[in-house]
Amino acid sequence: MTLIQTVDIVDLVIDGAARPARGGARAAVLDPATGATLAEVAAAGPEDVDDAVAAARAAQPAWSRLSPRQRGQHLFAVAALVRRHADDLAHTESLDTGKPLAQARADVEVTAEYFEFYGGYADKFYGETMPLAGDSFALTFREPHGVTGHIIPWNYPLQIGCRTIVPSLMVGNACVVKPAMEAPLSITRLGLLALEAGLPPGVLNVVPGSGSLAGAHLADHPGIDHLSFTGGLETGVLVMSAAARHVRPVTLELGGKSPSLVFADADLDRATAVLTKALIQNAGQTCSAGSRIVAERSVHDELVDRLAKAFEEVTLGRGVDDPDMGPVISAAQRDRVLGYIDGALAAGCGVAAGGSAAEPAGLAGGYFVRPTLLVDVAPDMAVAQEEVFGPVLTVLRADDDESALAIANGTPFGLVASVWTSDLDRAMHLARRLEAGQVYLNSYGAAGGIGLPFGGVKKSGFGREKGVEAASEYTQTKTVVVNVG
Ligand code: NAD
Repeated sequence: MTLIQTVDIVDLVIDGAARPARGGARAAVLDPATGATLAEVAAAGPEDVDDAVAAARAAQPAWSRLSPRQRGQHLFAVAALVRRHADDLAHTESLDTGKPLAQARADVEVTAEYFEFYGGYADKFYGETMPLAGDSFALTFREPHGVTGHIIPWNYPLQIGCRTIVPSLMVGNACVVKPAMEAPLSITRLGLLALEAGLPPGVLNVVPGSGSLAGAHLADHPGIDHLSFTGGLETGVLVMSAAARHVRPVTLELGGKSPSLVFADADLDRATAVLTKALIQNAGQTCSAGSRIVAERSVHDELVDRLAKAFEEVTLGRGVDDPDMGPVISAAQRDRVLGYIDGALAAGCGVAAGGSAAEPAGLAGGYFVRPTLLVDVAPDMAVAQEEVFGPVLTVLRADDDESALAIANGTPFGLVASVWTSDLDRAMHLARRLEAGQVYLNSYGAAGGIGLPFGGVKKSGFGREKGVEAASEYTQTKTVVVNVG
């Protein structure tokens, strides 16, 4: 595998082989830092998705009949190859998504760890036995769904892709993965690496394609037994509607508007550093980005001053040059983010930092937005309610714990939240009442480590990825009752 230096040709991975789309369609993948074409990627049409589903259906029975330990060993073999190609994969991920190389390296590390975590867990995922009357008892089997579909977004293709794919493989499903066309390069390479590592053909198929064509076809495919979707709210509703037609289970990981509650007794040095990172990571294009701060009134101005200073110091540049922050993914995404900033200004917000597009030296064609701090934001404004998915942080004021909690819970979303205080009682009371799938106390993590269950409440979705919980998502429980009397 070589580093992408010139335009690369990338194929679909179906039934153990790389091949073009049947109709020959290809699409350009752009470098978001320059607007230049990075690669020409095969764009799957419905017939290619059909092929991938058929290959998965054919491969799944033998894969599920391997012992859990054998499947675990396959996963470890993939992890070893991911580690061997870590530099190439990180470079590709950084070029494709625009994220700083250090973040891309972290994503690749986590990718390898997914394979190791679930490789190790494969032979420790058990059913239960239940005593019944007399000599009777019951036992449960955790059975794979069969073929699982995985529709993944462009912001963390490797990391989010593997978050859903690996536990599914672990329990004996075969997978059809539909990456986003904006950033399909790393996950397609992963499909090839998995084959090189010895994963049987057809067990993992990767079919980049447009959402409305390949994605919609996969979501509505009768040959899929479970669908995992990570992406935007509106698309999630479409995918869930398609699944409903087939009475098929779905896991939905949708957006967020994650709040950080900062009180006057917080360590502001630490809060400023961590909350700056929670926003600029991946240029704010993280579902769990810390995109709202609810500050206690007495500490509001000082916190804003500190954050503004930190934001102004953020370096922008091409991801592979490892700045603090790279571009957003596309011109459309940049314009969407700028539109939110304009709307906020028109609604009466102030700008404490940023507020405009940027053009780092030599990168005139790139899609850069300066990290932006919006103040004087009312809780019901669009910029405080909707997911911007860019480097825009809104700061709101609260008078006390109750009003902070009401603002924090006052959006349709509920993915992650954080509380910054030195009062442990307050922190724990708020942690219990915050509507979020994960709560961080005096810290913030974009989803945290692999072992931590992750997922949303309310319109952030449902189902849990990561940790041992994910294995349950990808299985169905069968109960067998035995009468030995
Ligand atoms: P998106 O919903 O536009 O696309 C996500 C995926 O769905 C892509 O692969 C896309 O091609 C596909 N798709 C688009 N239309 C489809 C259709 N009609 N049927 C089936 N598939 C279709 O989202 P995006 O712009 O790629 O990603 C950004 C969104 O994803 C944000 O809202 C973000 O919060 C969310 N996200 C959530 C998580 C999480 O874990 N909760 C993680 C990452 C991103």
